[in-house]
Amino acid sequence: MTHLKHEKTLVLIKPDGVQRSLIGEIINRYERAGLKLVGLKILVPTSDMVDRHYSLDPSWKQSVGEKAIASYEKRGMEPPSRDPIKLGDRVLDGLKKYLVCGPVIAMVWQGAHAVEVVRKITGGTEPRTSDVGTIRGDFVLDSYQMADTDGRAVRNLIHASGSVQEATQEIPLWFNENEILSYRLVQEQILYDVNIDGILE
Ligand code: GDP
Ligand code: MG
Repeated sequence: MTHLKHEKTLVLIKPDGVQRSLIGEIINRYERAGLKLVGLKILVPTSDMVDRHYSLDPSWKQSVGEKAIASYEKRGMEPPSRDPIKLGDRVLDGLKKYLVCGPVIAMVWQGAHAVEVVRKITGGTEPRTSDVGTIRGDFVLDSYQMADTDGRAVRNLIHASGSVQEATQEIPLWFNENEILSYRLVQEQILYDVNIDGILE
């Protein structure tokens, strides 16, 4: 079995994060947790890329649609449709407009529990309810209510893989194998090595 320290996850800084000059701040949040940046690029995604990205998990549309219906009900509102797939399609249409509107930063971060740690630092999907101290909670005020009223996707700065399986599928979509580097950071000795002698002179 591969050591956990090799776990990788995909992070996209969405166009709102780039436009708000939060690239450095966002990178800092992951970097200071001890994660290692092993892939990095700037690009303007195509609508086809966004479609492929969110179609990797065939159950995504259904689950995001169910979540959207629940959020309408929580607000005491009737959803525009009771069919989760239809609502999932609406979210995807919104994402296809949102993510192609300008440059995004695509990154691969590596480290023990990288997927889980990155999601924890990033915060929950809806910035209105994301925890304080998370990136989405600290820097955004968008909500399902705002996004639904204006018929657009929730603007929440970041995409981060939701599971190890999702990461395994998403990384090759955005990066060629030779664009992901294998190297050692000095701090890995203190993070991962079994023996940490040799520090004192
Ligand atoms: P994530 O993994 O936290 O990014 O969330 P999801 O995979 O469930 O959804 C993907 C993206 O779609 C989110 O980051 C939001 O930008 C957007 N989104 C998700 N749910 C909704 C929703 O109910 N309404 C709207 N308008 N956008 C949504
Ligand atoms: Mg997701």
